[in-house]
Amino acid sequence: MAVQTVAGNATTAPVDLGPAAALSCRECGERFELGPLFACASCFGPLEVAYDLPTGSPEELRKRIEAGPDNIWRYAPLLPVPADVADKPNLNPGFTKLVKADNLARELGVTGGLYVKDDSGNPTHSFKDRVVAIAVEAARAFGFTTLSCSSTGNLAGAVGAAAARAGLRSCVFIPHDLEQGKVVMAAVYGGELVGIEGNYDDVNRFCSELIGDPLGEGWGFVNVNLRPYYGEGSKTLAFEICEQLGWRLPDQIVIPIASGSQLTKIDKGLQELIKLGLVEDRPYKIFGAQAEGCSPVSAAFKGGHDVVRPQKPNTIAKSLAIGNPADGPYVLDIARRTGGAVEDVTDEQVVDAIKLLARTEGIFGETAGGVTLGVTKKLIEAGVIDPTLTTVVVNTGDGLKTLDAVSATSQATATIKPSLDAFRAAGLGTA
Ligand SMILES: *Cc1c(COP(=O)(O)O)cnc(C)c1O
Repeated sequence: MAVQTVAGNATTAPVDLGPAAALSCRECGERFELGPLFACASCFGPLEVAYDLPTGSPEELRKRIEAGPDNIWRYAPLLPVPADVADKPNLNPGFTKLVKADNLARELGVTGGLYVKDDSGNPTHSFKDRVVAIAVEAARAFGFTTLSCSSTGNLAGAVGAAAARAGLRSCVFIPHDLEQGKVVMAAVYGGELVGIEGNYDDVNRFCSELIGDPLGEGWGFVNVNLRPYYGEGSKTLAFEICEQLGWRLPDQIVIPIASGSQLTKIDKGLQELIKLGLVEDRPYKIFGAQAEGCSPVSAAFKGGHDVVRPQKPNTIAKSLAIGNPADGPYVLDIARRTGGAVEDVTDEQVVDAIKLLARTEGIFGETAGGVTLGVTKKLIEAGVIDPTLTTVVVNTGDGLKTLDAVSATSQATATIKPSLDAFRAAGLGTA
């Protein structure tokens, strides 16, 4: 099969993406000029951004970061973005709360410190604003005029909103049967939203074809031809978690897996912080979380395989429903190298975990958050996650987008006439 590696580059001028120096192949290491490339011309391996990273002292860099804006642009020296990025029209995501979850910790028997990194606080209420913000800078640098993506839901909304702010056109693609909350959140920003009759893997295949077609000329697909840049946005989760812990690595992090990009790049971010001397180099473990109804990476991990066998997704965790995850093998590497694990939970456990987080910490996460906390609980009970160590659970999206998951069991306690007698008669007010 011929692999399309270059697509629709609308400009040939040298691009300014700050410290980004080149693209390099994750498999064979071959380097390429910065451009809308995503696969190595020699071995078809995925491309990653390579940097000329800052050379000053760690103290200087730490100070420079701390003096920066309260969003991901405080880490601009470590991202493929121009130095003046914060002055451009964008959604300025990031620097979301790291919540010390003491009630949840008590309930789960965690004594080493349990934190929830709550990315529902981003502009379009999921972690996807981080990756899209970086992809927008690449799109601007390469002269793209339309922003696009294949999405499991949250990405479509993040692209629609970012394009609106940046003054770009948008046309985004989703599986036709997503939650209403995701559809409305994607459509409201005014771009084209196209439902594809099929699952995410069908949507993704369709987008790959569109990239190779004249129709797709001048289009930046944030997670396809801009994927190397897009991925870098997830590093900011690693940067923030460490900075918010007082420039310290957590011992254990639990991260949901769809394509596996986020988990892979969080690890890359942690490695960069170590390399730069911004945190002390000590061991950390990375755990991946999937829903049982779409658990190709978890199945490979538990089966001891290096190859991820595609699945047909069937789960309420639709934002994670990628049956053929592009970064699956790298997730396996990272989980094994760090001494972590990949695990999955049933839809019922997902719902229980959403309600557990809401009940204990006042945080309403989406189904992906339920997957991640559900897996955390399961791995603590199995003795795989050590409750005496510092643990961070990433909540990647907002429960308002996946109301259906909990609406059957989360309704008014009672409906009564507006009188105290009725209230008393119903035996209420004692909860
Ligand atoms: C997209 C998404 C993820 C993870 O995506 P990756 O493809 O693995 O990077 C996790 N949570 C939510 C809510 C998402 O929308």
